[in-house]
Amino acid sequence: MRPNRFERAKNKRRTIAKERIILLLDMAEQRALADEMPLADRYAQLARKIGMRYQISMPRGFNLRFCRQCLKYLVPGKNARFRTSAGRLSRQCLGCSSIYRMPLKPRRI
Ligand SMILES: [Zn+2]
Repeated sequence: MRPNRFERAKNKRRTIAKERIILLLDMAEQRALADEMPLADRYAQLARKIGMRYQISMPRGFNLRFCRQCLKYLVPGKNARFRTSAGRLSRQCLGCSSIYRMPLKPRRI
């Protein structure tokens, strides 16, 4: 069905928000690689906030880059540990040492 003018405006806002999220996550990644973790964290938090405001999920792979406990931006090898064992992926935040596990096998319907 054709979106009405309210839906069109909403889609427009969301498209802009998506672009901003991608830009911010890109900047966060660059800061993290330059060892400036406070800035990386700040950019990642802004990206997360924009995502929540416009109800957009993080781009692929980035939903794993936030600690579920302390909401810090996680960089594998720097402040996070990613391991696979027994068909599960476990991720540990080295800031608050919380562990998050998820199955790697696709769910059967
Ligand atoms: Zn944490």
